[in-house]
Amino acid sequence: MKQSQLFVKTLRQPPKEAETINHKLLTQAGFVDQLMAGVYSYLPLGLRVLRNIEGIVREEMNTIGGQELLMPILHPSSIWKQTGGWDKIDVLFKIKSRTGKDYALGQSEEEVVTPLVMSRVNTHKDLPVAVYQIHWKYRDELRAKSGILRGREFFMKDMYSFHENQKDFERFYEVVKHAYLNVYKRAGLVAKVTEGSGGSFSEKISYEFMVLTDAGEDKILYCEECEFCINRDIAKQEAGAKCPKCGKGKLLEGIASEVGNVFDLGQKYGGNFDLGFLDRDNKKQYPVMGCYGLGISRLMGVIVERFHDDKGIIWPESVAPFQVHLLDLPGGDSKKVYESLLKDDIEVLYDDRDASAGEKFADSDLIGIPWRAVASKKTGDKIELKKRGEEKVKLVSIKELLETLKS
Ligand code: ATP
Ligand code: MG
Repeated sequence: MKQSQLFVKTLRQPPKEAETINHKLLTQAGFVDQLMAGVYSYLPLGLRVLRNIEGIVREEMNTIGGQELLMPILHPSSIWKQTGGWDKIDVLFKIKSRTGKDYALGQSEEEVVTPLVMSRVNTHKDLPVAVYQIHWKYRDELRAKSGILRGREFFMKDMYSFHENQKDFERFYEVVKHAYLNVYKRAGLVAKVTEGSGGSFSEKISYEFMVLTDAGEDKILYCEECEFCINRDIAKQEAGAKCPKCGKGKLLEGIASEVGNVFDLGQKYGGNFDLGFLDRDNKKQYPVMGCYGLGISRLMGVIVERFHDDKGIIWPESVAPFQVHLLDLPGGDSKKVYESLLKDDIEVLYDDRDASAGEKFADSDLIGIPWRAVASKKTGDKIELKKRGEEKVKLVSIKELLETLKS
């Protein structure tokens, strides 16, 4: 893509109202645009990142047998009244139509997915089922000031699983946990799994996936030696105490952002809609359900919080908007390089603008594409290649450039 054709330009300064790093950098570099607190447009560069994260999540969910679908955002109030959510869920956005009918905007989709799936499940042989969607969610959050970490409209992957018993849910939860950890790892992050508190309805255990970042809103205690991690809010332990799991490490306190969550929904929703299946003894049972959320837009924000320096963003290659940022400077044959990259299907942002070298270098650091390639008078028929976040530059031929970017 030619940068001269991008309608979004970088800003000299981050917007005044931006308080967090992700909000500052994503806006300044032209990835997102805030419409109002907690509501953002994803601009061409930002959408490419969002789609890359979405692609990783989709692959991992498909691998474990999740079936993708797309459910409505606009819901009749009746389904929310049936589960009690209409009165109990404080973040639920409620809308009245001009004919006086009440609607809700999806903040999670148990109310839609339970009748959808269970009206098609007759016996235990039809179970388990796991379906998921990647879609917008709406929540009337009181505070929405952490950039895209907490939106009133945000992008989420939500999966729902249906099981004949608790044991099968627990088996599947382990599979999902593994897939979630893969997602975070592929996005360049290390997530810790906490045992958190239950959701608004259930007293059951829920599991949270946490990434350490000062921009987060959760306090966690985690072991310096093993994978033990717990939300500070419910913890019996104190920082500095011995780890109750391995007995060796000390517990450290940290601030983290919740990038995923699993709820054991038990049999609540089957019961609410009186939708069950015939079990192995030919008796009617309600399914044991699990709900698995993963904040895709929040993940994008957390990546920026974790990977940046004072010049801008440093995208991990797996989610970067482009693989390489090619800068055209006077005297170099960058056009030939651009064409070679395109021919080899390498995703390249080509800074062909009529701008100074200083401006191009600064924008390149701000936007944070993993590789920067420069063709100028100085480089002759070679190209200067540099990795974002590293100082080392090397001179390479077009052939070597293509090889490096493909490996
Ligand atoms: P939080 O405690 O941060 O409000 P939650 O417990 O309400 O999260 P879930 O309902 O389980 O979260 O949603 C699943 C995932 O969606 C969360 O783990 C998080 O990554 C993401 N998420 C939740 N609320 C928001 C929001 N307002 N903006 C962006 N992402 C969110
Ligand atoms: Mg919440």
